[in-house]
Amino acid sequence: MKIEVLTLFPDLVEQVGMFGMPRVAVEQGVLQLSTRQLRDYSGNRWRRVDERTYGGGPGMVIQAEPLTQAIDAAKAAIGPEAKVVSLSPQGERYDQSWAERLSHEPGLILVCGRYEGIDERLMPQIDLELSVGDYVLSGGELAAMLLVDSVARLLPGVLGHEQSASSDSFSDGLLDHPHYSRPEVWREQSVPEVLMSGDHAAIRRWRRKQGLERTLLRRPDLLDSLKLDAEQIKLLREIITEQLHEQEDRT
Ligand code: SAM
Repeated sequence: MKIEVLTLFPDLVEQVGMFGMPRVAVEQGVLQLSTRQLRDYSGNRWRRVDERTYGGGPGMVIQAEPLTQAIDAAKAAIGPEAKVVSLSPQGERYDQSWAERLSHEPGLILVCGRYEGIDERLMPQIDLELSVGDYVLSGGELAAMLLVDSVARLLPGVLGHEQSASSDSFSDGLLDHPHYSRPEVWREQSVPEVLMSGDHAAIRRWRRKQGLERTLLRRPDLLDSLKLDAEQIKLLREIITEQLHEQEDRT
């Protein structure tokens, strides 16, 4: 997969390919990550790409012409089929299902805004606007880096079997179960017995139940859109009964 990021701060964005799973993806050749400096398309000797907003008021806007030239150059470099994604607080909310969908794209061109954003007339060239959350960043770079990281770890062969993404939070619509490592007892807290039992069926059931319980208590909204299987419905009933008993014990 090829990802090119159009930005005023290529040095910042390139950091994402130097660490962790994106680095593995780059080293394995499944991810080709590049950046393009928007100022190279300014067409003026000051390398300026921003102008005041029409209608008055504070703030500058990234101009359409340097951006459109940068998009054309990126398409020539990584392929005309690459999807052009603008990072914007006004976009669709980015989540794990977006990461999964985007990981199947042959190419992505990520447009990082700054200041008040980009000239609206560029929109016909944008395939998709994505937001990383309901808050305003000062630029699209951190959002683009987040997207690159979450997509890179889904590319084939990047995560080893032990780190398979299929058990991660959101992959099945639920939060992940808790994890424990050595030592068996740490500061008087023991690892749950079932995990030491060697009983794989019991461990699997415990993990499913824990994932469900965490989702119910921390992110009940996730359950709204989920189709639970028979075992999950049974587990959820158990959890609710246990929660009610705990509540009774407390009062
Ligand atoms: N005036 C814009 C608004 O209120 O919608 C905010 C512009 S913001 C200061 C500058 C740039 O940061 C945006 O063009 C976008 O690229 C990026 N950005 C800010 N918040 C973001 C978010 N939540 N998700 C994705 N990109 C974001």
